[in-house]
Amino acid sequence: MSKKIVVLDGYTENPGDLSWDALGTLGDLTVYDRTPNDLIQERIGDAAYVYTNKTPMTREIIENAPNLEFIGILATGYNIVDVEAAKEKNIPVCNVPTYGTTAVAQYVFALLLEVCHHVSHHSEAVKEGRWTENADFCFWDYPLIELLGKTIGIVGFGRIGQAAGAIAKAFGLDVLAYDEYPNDEGRAIGEYVELDELLAKSDIISLHVPLFPSTEHIVRKENIAKMKDGVIIINTSRGPLVDEEDMVEALESGKVYYYATDVASVEPIKADNPLLKAKNCIITPHIAWAPKESRQRLMDVAVDNLRQFQAGNIVNAVNM
Ligand code: NAD
Repeated sequence: MSKKIVVLDGYTENPGDLSWDALGTLGDLTVYDRTPNDLIQERIGDAAYVYTNKTPMTREIIENAPNLEFIGILATGYNIVDVEAAKEKNIPVCNVPTYGTTAVAQYVFALLLEVCHHVSHHSEAVKEGRWTENADFCFWDYPLIELLGKTIGIVGFGRIGQAAGAIAKAFGLDVLAYDEYPNDEGRAIGEYVELDELLAKSDIISLHVPLFPSTEHIVRKENIAKMKDGVIIINTSRGPLVDEEDMVEALESGKVYYYATDVASVEPIKADNPLLKAKNCIITPHIAWAPKESRQRLMDVAVDNLRQFQAGNIVNAVNM
């Protein structure tokens, strides 16, 4: 009899446009769209292989899963799993280290170009009849911004930061970068500078550092004061990189012209998040990673992680 595979929260990875069939060839598969905390243990039951994206696997859950051999993460981040508890039981926790670099870098420019042109707003205005009734052959409701010759400062020049930098160059932007560990690939794309210099010289700042205690609120009042007046800030990394209260103040005063973000301090965003009512703020629901191509890549690696495990090879383990 084949061993059981349980996917605890498969919906965001595959809302129906991909196939779980490849995973189904590796065992007796059950996929749940999402699993509330009080059902996690029951649903894992006597499964050998469990996949999670954001459903927590605590020490207690891991210790009480009698047949558990392998934990797969349907993402890169694995902070929802007690990896030490898994290690003590010799259970590898295997993630997908990269799958969305291109998608997230592309999304930086989806946000930035929206700030520059407000395409959806102008399309809506046309459909409301405003062009038909317009005295001139064109109209626009926001300043339209050309990128050529402006400076983008990329905070965190790793995989996504460098991919965004390469796209920025194609727009004719000058690229400044700040990273703890400069490398030659980065030097070929942009100029490494200290954070303060980047803040002072950039017309656009794009955040790509991971969230660590050292990077939490890297955008806060004190650092915003060092930026150019009217700076545009793009965040496709993590919400807590930005002090949202300070950001709202800076948007209201015009110090920051636009904050375009795919992430929030708490997700899903809370109804009382002050950004929801702030001036000049674009917020999308953490979708930069999620084009189908990117999710398929994630699926392929996640499935291969188990296939390799069954063949006696541990790949992409974060705890051993
Ligand atoms: P990466 O590890 O390749 O790059 C991160 C870079 O940040 C590294 O070069 C590292 O040296 C640098 N860094 C770390 N701490 C620093 C510090 N204190 N000061 C300066 N530099 C520092 O990661 P990546 O693949 O480019 O991903 C970046 C982030 O993007 C992830 O951590 C994640 O938060 C976010 N992300 C978001 C989405 C989305 O859908 N919105 C999807 C994937 C990743």
